[in-house]
Amino acid sequence: MRLGVVPCGPVGRGLKDITVASLRHFAKTLLLGELLSGLALTFKYMWKPKFTVHYPQEKTPQSVRYRGLHALRRYPNGEERCIACKLCEAVCPALAITIESDVSNDGTRRTTRYDIDLFKCIYCGFCEEACPVDAIVETRIHEYHMENRGENIMTKDKLLAVGDRFQAMITADKTADAPYR
Ligand code: SF4
Ligand code: SF4
Repeated sequence: MRLGVVPCGPVGRGLKDITVASLRHFAKTLLLGELLSGLALTFKYMWKPKFTVHYPQEKTPQSVRYRGLHALRRYPNGEERCIACKLCEAVCPALAITIESDVSNDGTRRTTRYDIDLFKCIYCGFCEEACPVDAIVETRIHEYHMENRGENIMTKDKLLAVGDRFQAMITADKTADAPYR
């Protein structure tokens, strides 16, 4: 073997490959190749439609079956729909619903207490599915928060207030979903 000549065979080829790779890496580093290729990618997508939205100014579409904050509904004459059958309480896998009932002045069975613990609730929708009179529903409202201890309990009054306030939206969602039920 003579000095200065790269040997033939696997050993010689390996050394040659390493040298070429080192030179390429050095050139890339010196000329900021990776930085430029990153910038090229940035400019490529700069004027293309964005995948992100500017929440809360912009919002993504919601399904009419979205399971958000609960509400108790009334009939158009103002009568409460809930008949205190407790099916929702029985079906709730998180034991988040507490109901107490009594006979009202008109002889019908009504809830005297209807609480949903939002910290326990897993928003499964079983309560809504189980209700025979469409009284308890989950609305599309998802932007809410609590500031004080105990506000996680949605009482009957609070649930009815949500139902009264968003009745139009709830009715529209139920109507849109009806053909698929
Ligand atoms: S959505 Fe599910 S977990 Fe929440 S109260 Fe209804 S049944 Fe219970
Ligand atoms: S909300 Fe519906 S399922 Fe629950 S107690 Fe009232 S009527 Fe029964």
